[in-house]
Amino acid sequence: MDCHTSPPGEFRDFKRDDFEETWIKVAEGRFGQVYEVKVKLWREKCALKTFDATLCANVYRKIKEELSNITKLKFKYIMSVYGVCSEATAVVMEYMSNGSLNKLLANHNFMWPKKFQMIHEISMAMNFLHCMKPPLLHLNLKTSNILLDDHLHVKISDFGIMHWEEGMSKTALMECLTARGNINYIPPEVFTQCPDSPGTAFDVYSFGIVMWEILTQQKPYTGCSVTKVLLQVSKGKRPGLEMIPEKRPQECDELISIMKQCWDGNPWMRSKFSDIVRKTEALNELVKIPGLISAHRNGDAEQKSNNPWMFYPMHKVSSDGILSMLSKKDFSSFRQTVK
Ligand code: ATP
Ligand code: MG
Repeated sequence: MDCHTSPPGEFRDFKRDDFEETWIKVAEGRFGQVYEVKVKLWREKCALKTFDATLCANVYRKIKEELSNITKLKFKYIMSVYGVCSEATAVVMEYMSNGSLNKLLANHNFMWPKKFQMIHEISMAMNFLHCMKPPLLHLNLKTSNILLDDHLHVKISDFGIMHWEEGMSKTALMECLTARGNINYIPPEVFTQCPDSPGTAFDVYSFGIVMWEILTQQKPYTGCSVTKVLLQVSKGKRPGLEMIPEKRPQECDELISIMKQCWDGNPWMRSKFSDIVRKTEALNELVKIPGLISAHRNGDAEQKSNNPWMFYPMHKVSSDGILSMLSKKDFSSFRQTVK
């Protein structure tokens, strides 16, 4: 079925000719590229994630099978997948103008309310996947698979692609995960115990690491080899809590305690997203500054939006990053000053 004949909402197999000629490369992935393309008929931008045909022929075939189900999923915080483009060995999905959280965390200084909001939106997305019967496991949750739209709201992508297959050896699973550069997000039981098929606790662990990255705007275990990370994590080591700025809202302590429960060494002790989402919802409400939901992209003070001070490019922030640490009260007075 092609773009012209398939009913709306159906899984489509786009032709190259369904897109305008100009394909803008937005990223070079490990197994292919991501392009911004425009669908001729829809007049809408999409993202096209290609898979290197020689490396990934089998992977792509399996992904196509999975995607025909995933296309039907609709939720505010998960990425819509429109279909595939077999001619280009690619997946066609919603285009997210602000790119990945991975890049944004490295280049911008987020304020606390925005951090709380992002954490809550990710937990809503994950709760939605885990509420399915049977739960849809992500198994590839990391900051490069958390994308942000024009208004800096979160959508998670590339879920349901990684799979545990009957008879898959522990080594095969680890190879699959480490090839994607996911070592920091893999729970210790995957490499320390005989693997049962992974369950929801796998994603909860990855979420704990993502929380730490949002709270600190750092990458975990920098400078450590894969072997060292595996060794240390299996001994119970986790990213350092001392990296979380001391000057922080008191509600952040509650987030830290949720994060610690998420990355517990014992998968049975980890929280469930059904509980996490209720807690992040309450915390998000507490720190929310009325009217401050979105942000503008380039931090230009002339370009006023309703919510102009949600985050800053790093270069506009004082060297101690003080803007990101303002409390609600400080923030109101700061806002007065910048008007
Ligand atoms: P994995 O294959 O395990 O998901 P990855 O997320 O690092 O690994 P890609 O999925 O190929 O690699 O994505 C690479 C980058 O492309 C992302 O970090 C993001 O910057 C960009 N990207 C991916 N999907 C989209 C999208 N839908 N809209 C805009 N940019 C995207
Ligand atoms: Mg990805």
